[in-house]
Amino acid sequence: MTDEFLPFSRPTISRAAIDEVVACLESGWITTGPRVKKFEALLKTYFSAPHALTLSSATAGLHLALAALELKPGDEVITTPMTFAATLNTIVLTGGKPVLVDVEPDTYNMDVARLAQAITPRTRAIMPVHFAGLPVDLDPLYALADKHGLRVIEDAAHAIGTEYKGRRIGAFGDIQVFSFHPNKNITTGEGGCVVTRDDKMAEQIALLRFHGMDREAWNRFGKTGSQHYEIITPGYKYNMMDIQAALGLHQLPALEGFIRRRTELAQRYRESLADWPQWTLPGTPPYPHRHAWHLFTPLINPETAGMDRDAFMQGMKERNIGTGIHYRAVHLYPYYREHFGFKRGDFPNAENVSDRIVSLPLFPGMSDADQDRAIAAMADLFGRK
Ligand SMILES: *Cc1c(COP(=O)(O)O)cnc(C)c1O
Repeated sequence: MTDEFLPFSRPTISRAAIDEVVACLESGWITTGPRVKKFEALLKTYFSAPHALTLSSATAGLHLALAALELKPGDEVITTPMTFAATLNTIVLTGGKPVLVDVEPDTYNMDVARLAQAITPRTRAIMPVHFAGLPVDLDPLYALADKHGLRVIEDAAHAIGTEYKGRRIGAFGDIQVFSFHPNKNITTGEGGCVVTRDDKMAEQIALLRFHGMDREAWNRFGKTGSQHYEIITPGYKYNMMDIQAALGLHQLPALEGFIRRRTELAQRYRESLADWPQWTLPGTPPYPHRHAWHLFTPLINPETAGMDRDAFMQGMKERNIGTGIHYRAVHLYPYYREHFGFKRGDFPNAENVSDRIVSLPLFPGMSDADQDRAIAAMADLFGRK
């Protein structure tokens, strides 16, 4: 093989973004400052939201949104097993008990029809995950949340640019948390943000993200700020740097183009792989939506493929094609088995997905030829003529 390795994801960073990072480094102000303020203003406009708070990661955002709920021991938070571990980890870190609802077999999103039976008098919040950028069925979810007085923290790590019934995720509802990790639809290196329309929630997150201080450092040392600050509560150190925001300022305006290309590539996979018995392709929900195509994740059919998911990934790697696993069901990790008594059989749809799912290469900088090479490698591996 002389072809170079095709990764499953790679960020697209423009020359203008690189120049902005250099300008930031040369400006004398590299941590939270004017570029973060500007990026937050762009995010507020993008989401038509009064509050968009940048952070060091989406994990930090989930952590702070949950911390602001001040959970009592035994309080329950409902989420999905088909997610990144951070969704459940942050529930546990803030003193909550994760309660899981199985996913739909084809969209891998939380099956909202099963949500009502998971609600108990101890339930405080629901954390849906918009898997791969496909929106969860939010109308019935918010109807249940309203009926029971529950908060909703949407893990929107995959979902910047996703739309549900004509409305952008982040432009309505309670709290949304977005990720700017390099694999996600836009990146700031590491980074994330929380979007909300709740003034009190925004105030608490602003306080908790920077030591519980009543004023941020750049204000204190600026011309107009006072030298003093007060500690209102012991907080965390989750602020975004201006170096990161410098990237974000150029990534957000590029998002529409990124999603357009991701959508084209997803459509090409759909068409190319449609009649392959080795794959079951991701399903589409009946309600109007725009998929942000963070991931393209079919399920392998091991009998017809002649191999399981892990053997497929190894075979692709040997053919210089990267793939990923998003995700193995979180309830089956040792910590969650041991501390919450979860076991195989609890969430059969999630377990079926967990065993068979694979992320194929998908990123805006990928050419048609790159994709054709990935598909040819699969055909070779499966022995298709
Ligand atoms: C990536 C991801 C996170 C965490 O995002 P970070 O910015 O890396 O902390 C949380 N939830 C889901 C579903 C993710 O994919």
